[in-house]
Amino acid sequence: MSHMESNEVPHHEVLVVGGGIGGLTTAFALARKGHRVHVLERAPEFGEVGAGLQLAPNATRLLDRWGLLEHVVAAGVLPSRIILKDALTGVELTRLELGEGFRERYRAPYVVVHRSDLHRILVEACRAAGVSLETDREVERVDAVGDTAFTYCTDGVVYESSVVLGLDGLMSGLRAELVGDEPVDSGYVAYRGVVPVGSATSVDLDAVVAWIGPGCHMVQYPLRQRELVNLVAVVQTASAEGDGLSELERGFAQCCDHVRGALPHLWRDRQWLMYDRPPVGRWADGRLGLLGDAAHPMLQYLAQGACQAIEDAHVLAELADRHPGTETGARRVDWPVTLLAAQHVRAPRTARLQRAARVWGETWHASGLTRLLRNELLMTRSPDDYRHIDWIYGEALGAES
Ligand SMILES: Cc1cc2nc3c(=O)[nH]c(=O)nc-3n(C[C@H](O)[C@H](O)[C@H](O)COP(=O)(O)OP(=O)(O)OC[C@H]3O[C@@H](n4cnc5c(N)ncnc54)[C@H](O)[C@@H]3O)c2cc1C
Repeated sequence: MSHMESNEVPHHEVLVVGGGIGGLTTAFALARKGHRVHVLERAPEFGEVGAGLQLAPNATRLLDRWGLLEHVVAAGVLPSRIILKDALTGVELTRLELGEGFRERYRAPYVVVHRSDLHRILVEACRAAGVSLETDREVERVDAVGDTAFTYCTDGVVYESSVVLGLDGLMSGLRAELVGDEPVDSGYVAYRGVVPVGSATSVDLDAVVAWIGPGCHMVQYPLRQRELVNLVAVVQTASAEGDGLSELERGFAQCCDHVRGALPHLWRDRQWLMYDRPPVGRWADGRLGLLGDAAHPMLQYLAQGACQAIEDAHVLAELADRHPGTETGARRVDWPVTLLAAQHVRAPRTARLQRAARVWGETWHASGLTRLLRNELLMTRSPDDYRHIDWIYGEALGAES
């Protein structure tokens, strides 16, 4: 049974496929500028996995501009620092201070938030901005005829719109209409867990801490006003599905007590195989455009996938203002040109991040001499040296013109 929040015949100005963080942010960013937006989500309910998400200032600056940041901060935590430790010895390698100097530099805070809280805030913001939301609708394909895009769902329902935005994630079916590639398996699998504070091994409730080791790493940070602890353990896997306890025990066997002590708190019933795709320069064709993970999926080591989807949303909404169409009424945007412009602005930056995330993962997972050299280099870095992250967190985004 589909849950439609509108009695209208399905013709929309903007049809967003996928109600994840990217889809909802895009819908909101367009709706607040007066576009009529409808979101299709294939799941029976809108929601997100019950784990944490890090939002860097390149994303929180935009949430602030949209009036959403205060809600996200109220639901989340403002950590004081990010700390990198060696997973084998537990020794601190470097830290990044996230206090006043950081916030002044980037004009926004670093926030960690429960995904379901962020998702709820976005659903509420979309509803308030007039976005119509529909679940239980799986999109199969899109065809454009003249100035109309036809979106066909697996249940036979067809939608008409001026533009279709594919925000259907890493495994995007709509991407297949533009790019003939496959997701690339990194050979790593992530296990997650969220536990009440006090039930996990001692946790720094003021920090995002990453223990990095040969072929593995673990990340811990507080959530929900420091009531919960988020755990992510990433380990090399030989299995196509992840083989749970044994690969975790094996992969983390050499790690320090703190890291091994956290393993029992990870969920065993679900794993996330770590995929990305190589950068491509084709996200748009006519009235179909890709954004978010569908356009530029990246490994999660820089914690930027959702942040980039938020940047995408902003850029598209700004560019839509700059490319008016010739038609009157709702079809006042030249969508094909707008989509190409968004791709042009965004693709170089997201390609750089896709590549950098791979390199950063290799750096985290280094062994032997490379690990020792990495540790030496990191230990000489000053905590308020932001030179290497300015390009990510700063304003040279192609996003904030
Ligand atoms: C372990 C891990 C940790 C991460 N940590 C961070 C972090 O700290 N910070 C950060 O910024 N990013 C992080 N990321 C990346 C981030 O989760 C993703 O980049 C982000 O969620 C992508 O959002 P999206 O909306 O583009 O795609 P998705 O979240 O994948 O949403 C796609 C939506 O489309 C729907 N859908 C799919 N196909 C169809 C269809 N045919 N019809 C209708 N609906 C469809 C799906 O059901 C889903 O709801 C992490 C990723 C992982 C795996």
